[in-house]
Amino acid sequence: MTRTFSGIKPTGHLTLGNYLGAMRRWAEVDQHRTDALFCVVDLHALTVEHDPARVRRLTRQAATLMLAAGLDPELCTVFVQSHVDEHARLSYLLECTATDGELRRMIQYKEKGARAQAEGQSVRLSLLTYPVLMAADILAYSADEVPVGDDQRQHVELTRDLAVRFNQRYGHTFTVPKATHPPVAARVMDLQDPGSKMGKSHASSAGIVYLLDDADLVRKKVMRAVTDSGTDVVLDREERPGVANLLDVLAACSGGDPAGLAATYTSYGALKKDTAEAVVEVLAPIRKRHAEFAADQGYVDEVLKRGALRAREMARPLVDRAYRAIGLLPPA
Ligand code: ATP
Ligand code: MG
Repeated sequence: MTRTFSGIKPTGHLTLGNYLGAMRRWAEVDQHRTDALFCVVDLHALTVEHDPARVRRLTRQAATLMLAAGLDPELCTVFVQSHVDEHARLSYLLECTATDGELRRMIQYKEKGARAQAEGQSVRLSLLTYPVLMAADILAYSADEVPVGDDQRQHVELTRDLAVRFNQRYGHTFTVPKATHPPVAARVMDLQDPGSKMGKSHASSAGIVYLLDDADLVRKKVMRAVTDSGTDVVLDREERPGVANLLDVLAACSGGDPAGLAATYTSYGALKKDTAEAVVEVLAPIRKRHAEFAADQGYVDEVLKRGALRAREMARPLVDRAYRAIGLLPPA
């Protein structure tokens, strides 16, 4: 059976981008079709300046939202990365496989490093090595598929390179995974800055729709989305990224295709209104279920505990095998 792995960082409140780019397919497709593991990757949240209590709170919240978005612990494994030591154990072996040069080429390292510096913070070494830990997350479970948004393409490519290199040097150990992306809305853009990706860790929230925003706030954010000075609705990603973003979001939420939808609108106002309503409709059941699960944290904790047990059982033998393959003496 195909094995799937994907994760989400507790660096902020989850966004519409996280949902349309990744979580929705986990719930609607991957958990039914594959043996799937979904992880709150909390170690990755420590790569930028963080508040310990907030990370803990957001880790619980992300897990709760994953269940609210439809992940069913009877169908898939939901767990927290730091509960399974194998991720960090394997990451070190992959650090001994990756090169400094290839990590410095990662776009997210350059972008997030520049952001940290602009905010007067130092760049943590873990920001550089984070894609290696991500490779370990994936390879520890012999995942075949990694359902992610478009922005993670480069990191999954690196994961593939590291798996192939390790296998060539030390004998076949890892499955070489491939990334999968949704057909539309694989990269939802910030509503106030359609040149950049909507990201939960961004400072300004005006252009970000959070999964827990109430209906009126969603409407307000979508109606205020930056478009351009044109008036006719056409799908042109280069010249009109704001309109293209609305068309993508509308298509993803209502089931149409962006170009086809563009032809049915004659004004930005109508497009925004329909997009807002479509988003409100998609988020309503998630907010409702989130309130239910949030009222029963004991249940969520139990799911995470069972998930970690199962994940540990799966990862342990493979990581042990990698330790032997690379030349480490097994304990007597
Ligand atoms: P951060 O700003 O901390 O990187 P993020 O919003 O990018 O947060 P991640 O935890 O890095 O979220 O990513 C979780 C998943 O959501 C990944 O599969 C990623 O590709 C996807 N994703 C994130 N942002 C978007 C977006 N704007 N559009 C589509 N998919 C997205
Ligand atoms: Mg991200």
